Amino acid sequence: MKRKRVVILGATGSIGESALKVARDIPERMEIVGLAANRNAEKLAEAANKVRPESVCLVDETKIDILRKALDYEPRIFAGEEGLREIACLTNGEMVLVAIVGTGGLRPALAAIEAGKDLAVASKEILVMAGEIVMREARENGVHVLPVDSEHNAIFQCLEGKVGQKQKHPTSNIQHPMSKAGGSGLGVRCSMFDVSDVRRIILTASGGPFRETHAKEFDDLTPEEALKHPTWNMGPKITIDSATLFNKGLEMIEAHWLFGVEMKRVEVIIHPQSIVHSMVEFADGSTLAQLSYSDMCFPIQYAVTWPYRVPNTLPPLDFSKLSKLEFFTPRYSDFPALNLARRAGEAGGTLPAVMNAANEVAVAAFLDRRVSFPSIWQIVEEVMNRHASVAHPDLDAILQADQWARAAAIGCVESLKR
Ligand code: NDP
Repeated sequence: MKRKRVVILGATGSIGESALKVARDIPERMEIVGLAANRNAEKLAEAANKVRPESVCLVDETKIDILRKALDYEPRIFAGEEGLREIACLTNGEMVLVAIVGTGGLRPALAAIEAGKDLAVASKEILVMAGEIVMREARENGVHVLPVDSEHNAIFQCLEGKVGQKQKHPTSNIQHPMSKAGGSGLGVRCSMFDVSDVRRIILTASGGPFRETHAKEFDDLTPEEALKHPTWNMGPKITIDSATLFNKGLEMIEAHWLFGVEMKRVEVIIHPQSIVHSMVEFADGSTLAQLSYSDMCFPIQYAVTWPYRVPNTLPPLDFSKLSKLEFFTPRYSDFPALNLARRAGEAGGTLPAVMNAANEVAVAAFLDRRVSFPSIWQIVEEVMNRHASVAHPDLDAILQADQWARAAAIGCVESLKR
């Protein structure tokens, strides 16, 4: 395998840091040609000074001077949202790792696809909002969409080579639920997947810090308690999403789009040890799982080196030290996020984007101590109930629904404020 030239969007975040670690670990396989962040000029410069990519980008244009001063070499500097789209399309880049929290990654991801770049997607929000558009554009432009989320990377690994190739399979007329052309949309190789062999996709969830907390204690939970994830070290937004289980809800919709399976075939199981990263149950009742320690370097590396496996310095599992692997049914009524996400995923249209946007506003309000922990579910449900969903929306309709949901959620926050 030759060296892959990668642009990282969200380089200063938790996934960005792990990606930089992967690049240091396998320098002969991964070269970073671009780094982008939102406003953390110092941290971006520090990373760039070490890796020396040819281009860097900061969205916040007011901080460009700080960035320039902190750089000890002279890369090409892009700025603003336009700059983010430009760095995603660098002539020299082959793959764009989208690791921007929230919805800011959508436009640069679409620009990268149009420019023929493969995508490694950590930002689940963009698939939740606009999965139909992203996967259709990827198919039409013949680019790969490689999942970085550990669960989807696990499912990808379980599916690879295990499901019938369409041209050979006797029941090869299976189509992606929303696709006219057929295929899962994972690009050249993966569009050959025939997911009719898949009975269930089983997403594992750690259960978060409140897995065993009684629902009557939810009102008093603090951001500090919610930010203490038992198994993963991640950015604040996804950590709160893990506590509410909205993270798993978003992942159900993400799996639906990535793998072209209906929502009813996507299930969730609580697995507190976070060793089994997800499973696929096939038509014959056999189940495949992918296992590793909980370190995002594993899925990031596989997304970058796919379809090859290359040695690294990550620790392999020591089975003699794994005392137990447990699995539990989620507490659906105490953690309503899973049912809300199923409802949004099944309804489709603009409802998933609305759920996602309302959740972002509610999480920010909880982190600011303006609303209680259970208000996050309440706000999302209230905004979803008020939304008149648009079927098969274009990008403008999705962005409008996103804006509407944010305004509606802000209204709910005001009415619930402590
Ligand atoms: P962090 O909060 O740690 O980092 C977010 C990154 O995005 C930062 O680099 C930030 O830049 C950048 N950013 C934020 N807003 C914008 C914007 N509008 N334009 C450009 N850049 C922006 O998040 P995580 O790394 O935890 O998560 C990133 C994504 O990956 C999320 O979608 C999350 O759901 C997903 N994910 C994360 C996992 C994890 O282990 N952390 C696991 C699986 C998925 P700055 O620092 O300058 O603000």
